[in-house]
Amino acid sequence: MTMEIDTPPDSGEILSPSNDIIFECRGDISPETLESTEAVFRDVLEELKEEWALETMEPFAVEVFDNSSYRDNFSGPGQWKYNFLLKSPDLTKLYINTDIFQTIPEDVRGQIKHETAHIVINQAVGDDKAYKKSLLLKEGLAVPDEGVNTRLVKKIKQGEIQGLPNPIDCDNYKKIDGDTNKEPFTQQTDYLVIFSFCDFLIKHVGHERIKKIILALNEHEDLVTAYKAVTSEDLQTVVTKWQDEISEQL
Ligand SMILES: [Zn+2]
Repeated sequence: MTMEIDTPPDSGEILSPSNDIIFECRGDISPETLESTEAVFRDVLEELKEEWALETMEPFAVEVFDNSSYRDNFSGPGQWKYNFLLKSPDLTKLYINTDIFQTIPEDVRGQIKHETAHIVINQAVGDDKAYKKSLLLKEGLAVPDEGVNTRLVKKIKQGEIQGLPNPIDCDNYKKIDGDTNKEPFTQQTDYLVIFSFCDFLIKHVGHERIKKIILALNEHEDLVTAYKAVTSEDLQTVVTKWQDEISEQL
């Protein structure tokens, strides 16, 4: 059957954001589950593209798994109880275990936003190598939600950590601690520290300069020198300002 339309749409019409994501089902996924998964991804992607001023993007794939297919394909220590999302190393594909909707419903959007942010920021920066240089920026800039400060403050008040760690140490030691069998990464102290700091940093310098700082990592030894080269400011000064802001909430 040939369908005809009277008036063709204007060229340059903004296409639905779904064109940026190719969804594939793995295992037993109900139409409702697929629909709600797609809805969250689309919502989050729209927000991220605006935040990072990414007008057009290379499409990426989302493989939507049921619990048993996900566990069959991806196993880790103790099966990573709270691991429901993974990304491919080249940042073109995400894998989601839809069990997340039942297990940690309050965290679904945050986790999806974090993983999708990796793809968006990488494309907005346009340089894979630079994007992966600073662990602090790579992980921290992918802020999952606005509740990170509140959760961090709660952890400090409950005595789960003593004082505020310096986020720069994340790059110095090249690691982020946390136990995915105990709690989701969006609740883990080390992640909360870098999310909270990077959220502060984004507000402090803005998205455009953040991209410049990431690109400057190609020519500088580390984040501290790259940051100084772009902003003429010491990164430690920003750390202190952020520590003061968090301390006021304690
Ligand atoms: Zn991540």
